[in-house]
Amino acid sequence: MKSMTKMAIAIEEIGWNEYETQCKISVRKPNMSYKGSCMNFGIPEYACAGYCPLCRKTHFLEQGDARQHCFGLMKTFEQKGRIDFHVSDDLADSRLSLDYLFGEARGQMFGVLECKDSAGEITVLKAFSGQYNGIWEVEGWAPPFLDVECFDSLVFDVDRQIKELGNRIAGLTEGKERLRLADQRKKLSQRLMKEIHALYHVRNFRSEVKPLSDFFPNGIPTGAGDCCAPKLLNDAAKRSLIPVSLAEFYWGRPNRSGTRQHRNFYAACAEKCRPILGFMLCGVTS
Ligand SMILES: [Zn+2]
Ligand SMILES: [Zn+2]
Repeated sequence: MKSMTKMAIAIEEIGWNEYETQCKISVRKPNMSYKGSCMNFGIPEYACAGYCPLCRKTHFLEQGDARQHCFGLMKTFEQKGRIDFHVSDDLADSRLSLDYLFGEARGQMFGVLECKDSAGEITVLKAFSGQYNGIWEVEGWAPPFLDVECFDSLVFDVDRQIKELGNRIAGLTEGKERLRLADQRKKLSQRLMKEIHALYHVRNFRSEVKPLSDFFPNGIPTGAGDCCAPKLLNDAAKRSLIPVSLAEFYWGRPNRSGTRQHRNFYAACAEKCRPILGFMLCGVTS
């Protein structure tokens, strides 16, 4: 039997409903100072939060000054029209153009984390969610959780096998052999997802590290660990920076369901981020 972690046990003990309720305990009404802002109604003013079963309380970060830094970032977006700010116009990578977010691909989330270093100096980190136009790493932006080289070699190998199987399946008529190959292909892609998730290590500010699977006893949702908030906190923890405030906004063509609008601010998501943020924020304040 799979050994269960402290966190999984805690969730098991209190149950998912109670876990969800506890996560919402510190949800406060939107502060009046945000009146007239683009923060959506009903979304709490804090930028990210999560229940920490180790401390048995909710850890959270507010938008604070990170929100102002986001406006600064938006201004730079408008001026540059691309996200590779560190290079001059003639060296710009066309894949990193911001026009990409207004086309077929639609927009994407961006986030800013205001931090303090050990001397008390303010440092600002920034991140885009997931990959940008198929690219994991862009200079000046928080890196992904996973090791990109490991990811590439994993995917390259298995992708080739999956394509080969696909070709063989296409050449067969209905029957035992076709079913067998289809089953083999399905197992391969499931194993690939597991191996990709194993590359994700979730760290907090007490120098503790846990595998991503520990936080999702019912299965890891696609994209968990790829949102801005976890990327930013992971980067800060690795650099021994102390988070102060965090804000995330959407840039580009609205998503299909219309729940994400250009320039609007959003709190970290409930399904992929909240289950890991309580742990990730642990140790920030003490
Ligand atoms: Zn998220
Ligand atoms: Zn804690």
